[in-house]
Amino acid sequence: MSTTNYPFGRTLYRPTEYEVATTAKQAKTKHPHAVRIIDEAQELVLSGALDYDTRAGSWICTTSIALNKHVTLGPKTCTCQFFRDRLLTLNGYPFCVHKIALMLLHRVLATHLRQRISGNVKFHAEAEHARSHANELLLFTPNGNAVAVFGSRTWRVPKDLCATRWSMQGTDFKSLTDMYAFSLWLAQAHPLPQDLLMPLLSTSNDPEDIFQSMKQQGYSDHAAAMATDAMVMDERTWHETYDPRHQNASQRRAA
Ligand SMILES: [Zn+2]
Repeated sequence: MSTTNYPFGRTLYRPTEYEVATTAKQAKTKHPHAVRIIDEAQELVLSGALDYDTRAGSWICTTSIALNKHVTLGPKTCTCQFFRDRLLTLNGYPFCVHKIALMLLHRVLATHLRQRISGNVKFHAEAEHARSHANELLLFTPNGNAVAVFGSRTWRVPKDLCATRWSMQGTDFKSLTDMYAFSLWLAQAHPLPQDLLMPLLSTSNDPEDIFQSMKQQGYSDHAAAMATDAMVMDERTWHETYDPRHQNASQRRAA
């Protein structure tokens, strides 16, 4: 997608310490042998080291605790030596601190994305609801392949924000460029009226616990399931979502 003439500013969303810590904790539970590198990745996210190079069209890590001062990140690659030497592999895929940092950021942002989608623009009542929560709630476009937003209540039609795709965890960004566009929007979006970030605050890693805790707080089955799904993104899904080599298999499963 194009971000030319993007109306939402040039500041990326900075996840809170709690968002990053909770997300990292889940990763560390799954990969106890990688705890130290996940800790370092957490620090990178919190320090704002991840940025997006609009000219190159890729994510970069500008300050690094590794030898490289500036690395370029794609969905399946990093330019640092650690990654090239395949010093850490998880489920057969090479990883490095920068790539893990990008995954942590992705997970936080994807959770926000799912919490903000409130309907489809083709349904009048849902569109009006989103317009009354302008710059706060998102709508799927009619074909469901993107999300759109009313920047203010006076906008007649919502503007496309970023392309989306369906992953095993639910709605996800189609590409890391779409994740960038969403991050720009989120940085200045109105906060949600109620604290929908409760699932991120959960201390349990058990999906059933998260689901039940959401239900107890009065969320619908659908909302609770979406939030629970958002908690279980793993490195395999990351590759299936963003690595073109896996997209066919991923699309078959979604079909
Ligand atoms: Zn790296």
